[in-house]
Amino acid sequence: RFITFEGGEGAGKSTQVRLLAAALAGQGRDVLATREPGGATGAEEIRKLLVSGDPGRWDGVTEALLHFAARRDHLARTVWPALDAGRWVVSDRFADSTMAYQGYGHGLGREPIERLYEVAVGGFAPDLTLILDIPPEAGVTRAHARHDGEDRYERMDLSFHRRLRDGFLEIAGREPQRCVVIDASGSVDEVHATILKAVADRLLA
Ligand code: C5P
Repeated sequence: RFITFEGGEGAGKSTQVRLLAAALAGQGRDVLATREPGGATGAEEIRKLLVSGDPGRWDGVTEALLHFAARRDHLARTVWPALDAGRWVVSDRFADSTMAYQGYGHGLGREPIERLYEVAVGGFAPDLTLILDIPPEAGVTRAHARHDGEDRYERMDLSFHRRLRDGFLEIAGREPQRCVVIDASGSVDEVHATILKAVADRLLA
């Protein structure tokens, strides 16, 4: 099974990935937690190109191409082999982030992202996508408090974060069978409980 986490800055994705992976492992499943951009040697190298340097270093199409190049490497080297071995894979971000950030946030639009997806990923898709939703104001505040040094997007203006959120919610609306929107404004434990219930309802029922 392939589960992806999506959402804007400060939604708590990485914490919740860790907690879900631990919970699934506690149920006796063989779980791999991973992340994008990254999750494989080459993809992590591409991540460095994406998260360092000046904002606006890449034009939007180049940035989308780099994300899909990293994604292809992540799939080919990490995700697909793990799934083939019967493992559960939980990823902190996947292709919906490219749709939301580059498609909606940076204004590339849906079409080019869908075409790149077709080439880089093909007919493969997550079994379940958990979209962690939080008002942009709160997310940016949380992300600033964390201060992890990879904050070039966290400095973008609030309207960018609003477009991101709208993008994620539109994706969820278009693909309700794959996506569940999770209210991520509660405590870590509350959000974790909501996620466990969604996973049980969707994948274990
Ligand atoms: O998930 P994480 O916050 O570690 O993502 C790393 C950085 O890359 C973040 O600043 C995020 O906003 C950005 N990003 C992006 N476009 C994507 C995926 C992530 O701009 N498609």
